[in-house]
Amino acid sequence: MNHPIARVALPVPLDKTFDYLIKPNTTPVIGGRVLVSFGRQRLVGIVVAIGHDSDFPIQQLKPIQQVLDNQPLWQPALFSLLKWASSYYQYPLGDALANAMPALLRKGREASTTPLKYWHLTETGRDQPLNGLKRAPKQAQILNLLRHGPLSHENLLTHDVSSTTLKTVEQKGWISEQQHQPQQRQWLPQFEITEQKPRLNEEQALAIATVNSNPGFGCYLLDGVTGSGKTEVYLNLLEPILAAGKQALILVPEIGLTPQTINRFKRRFKVPLETIHSGLNDSERMAAWLAGRDNQAGIIIGTRSALFTPFANLGIIIVDEEHDASYKQQDSLRYHARDLAVMRANKENIPIVLGSATPALETLHNAQTGKYHYLTLSKRAGNASAARHGVIDVKGLYLNAGLSAPLIAEMRKHLNAGNQVMLFLNRRGFSPAMMCHECGWIAECDRCDAYYTLHQQSGELRCHHCATQRPIMHQCQQCGSTQLLPVGVGTEQLEAQLAELFPEFKTVRIDRDSTRRKGALENYLEAIKNNEYQILIGTQMLAKGHHFPNVTLVALIDVDSALFSNDFRASERLAQLFIQVAGRAGRASKPGSVLLQTHHPEHQLLQSLLHKGYGVFSQAALTERRQALLPPFTHLVLLRAEANDSDLVCQFLQQVRGIFEASPVYDQDCCVLGPNPAPLARRAGRFRWQLILQIPNRNKLQQILSIAKPAIQLLPLAKKIRWSIDVEPQDL
Ligand code: ADP
Ligand code: ZN
Ligand code: ZN
Repeated sequence: MNHPIARVALPVPLDKTFDYLIKPNTTPVIGGRVLVSFGRQRLVGIVVAIGHDSDFPIQQLKPIQQVLDNQPLWQPALFSLLKWASSYYQYPLGDALANAMPALLRKGREASTTPLKYWHLTETGRDQPLNGLKRAPKQAQILNLLRHGPLSHENLLTHDVSSTTLKTVEQKGWISEQQHQPQQRQWLPQFEITEQKPRLNEEQALAIATVNSNPGFGCYLLDGVTGSGKTEVYLNLLEPILAAGKQALILVPEIGLTPQTINRFKRRFKVPLETIHSGLNDSERMAAWLAGRDNQAGIIIGTRSALFTPFANLGIIIVDEEHDASYKQQDSLRYHARDLAVMRANKENIPIVLGSATPALETLHNAQTGKYHYLTLSKRAGNASAARHGVIDVKGLYLNAGLSAPLIAEMRKHLNAGNQVMLFLNRRGFSPAMMCHECGWIAECDRCDAYYTLHQQSGELRCHHCATQRPIMHQCQQCGSTQLLPVGVGTEQLEAQLAELFPEFKTVRIDRDSTRRKGALENYLEAIKNNEYQILIGTQMLAKGHHFPNVTLVALIDVDSALFSNDFRASERLAQLFIQVAGRAGRASKPGSVLLQTHHPEHQLLQSLLHKGYGVFSQAALTERRQALLPPFTHLVLLRAEANDSDLVCQFLQQVRGIFEASPVYDQDCCVLGPNPAPLARRAGRFRWQLILQIPNRNKLQQILSIAKPAIQLLPLAKKIRWSIDVEPQDL
């Protein structure tokens, strides 16, 4: 007999879907959730197809237990994007779809705004004489309150009425309950520009006209230095979109979601705006998701995962600071939000604008090959002037907690003039290692191939790669000497040393340790703005999204580690950091300067960056990438594997290598590197190896992976080893 069957994607780490019977009189929909039993569990899954045949005998199939949605969770474009992402990033569909849902939907909560509970008087309630209720004043109060019309449950609670009393009065038949859909906000009629707009300069006007001239999909790189008016361009692009009743999605980096950014959009448009970021709780996340889908928000600003918000009528996507590494998700579905955003815009047939002062090399390449339109803003808006910069060659110089004498002198000059100074050091803690002065032994994490970082303030040695921490030891574990010395400089040491060097100025340190408490970062930033601190020390965290008008000197304490890193992206990141900080310091009346400390002032990339700017630097870096066959000229896949037994991991990756090389599409343009030990060869007691697959084009890469993955899964070792596939990894 012909029985209707639903194919369901479940949140399990398996690359397949599962068939369930559709019970009579139930109507699951493709893209909607169902509740099914799976082994001994009950799981929420997504229906991906409905049909009449199954690879399994009908008698073996279980029925769907409950249909949770009577309409799809996502519109066709977004649903298709999610399926595409699952296949492109080699992540099981059920898991990928679960990933894209707010937690409450994963738990089976209804996908609509919760109806509000209202209480109203019944006929008998209305007829109750209030003075007959002298001994039950609360009950009388309820009847009295409802005499003027129904009130919501929440509203009644604010009048000091308890739910129990309400129940009692309900049982007496005096009041009853009604469900009301909350008021739908109609924002379009209120759409209005509420602030004075600056007169656009020519480049801004051209950029806006270019995007507007072309309805439908187009990807635009907006390359403009900090302060050149990119945000002003975004605001102008949103105007016709919002006026037409369409919505806008704005993606920002992990910690770029500052109140300043949000306020600029709020000040300009009178439309409801939602933000999505890691600080939201489950119901706030759900509310933002619904606001997008039900057209209750005109603008949604959010970090990476906001890309998966459904929209009733999306009109444009903006990706600000598109080069930022936080757009890449580093676990589970390892997607790149910028790349997926371009794909989404394509599927939705709308424009997308990628903005940056330091575009990623991949993005520049796409603009140069004509895949993206190139728009530029070359001048700072208003009359801010660009920062000056210089290099301090520290070869042979004495370094005081990492600071050279010329740098200290320069700092003194700026501080004495009443300005602020900002120092970057990408290493938290007091020092990155602790060594025995007598025998050279270094304190090392037992579980990782890594030294302990000394944290003097908390009196601990901490491993930055696993959660291990222990009290500082006072004796060498090898020779028993008590002469243990910190080696190298971290932000904590720099802070302590600055207090001695500049006792008359106040220092603040911004890193992951000092900003752990909620709200701490915001408080520090506010205090910096109010000039409560004169010296600011920070890791990269300090560089993102914040403007410091009183900072006139920025110094990068140590750029050598980036120049000579194993990661081929390190120099690009350094250049981006340098340009970003240079752009955020100073203002028209107080131009900033930027100093770099290095042992290699002659380094070619450094030279082009300093003397010719990011544009020339990026061309030189792209040429190097082309010669070395690195992205964007090839595409990489990183296979990471780890287990307690090092040999097994290596063996497993050897077999994976064999599978890749045996692929029918693998030819001499393809290349597999490894297995090699991972940069951190042992972490938390596990041995880590990696394999890199290098392929000239994406299609071939996808072909190889889609054939190889099922074969890898069949390897007996695949079950004993923790492994993952990272397509287009950001960190090698
Ligand atoms: P970006 O996003 O590129 O850093 P912004 O859009 O924030 O640049 O602009 C920097 C500053 O210049 C802001 O204060 C903004 O209001 C101002 N601004 C932008 N465009 C203009 C313009 N055409 N005329 C005058 N001021 C402008
Ligand atoms: Zn020793
Ligand atoms: Zn460790």
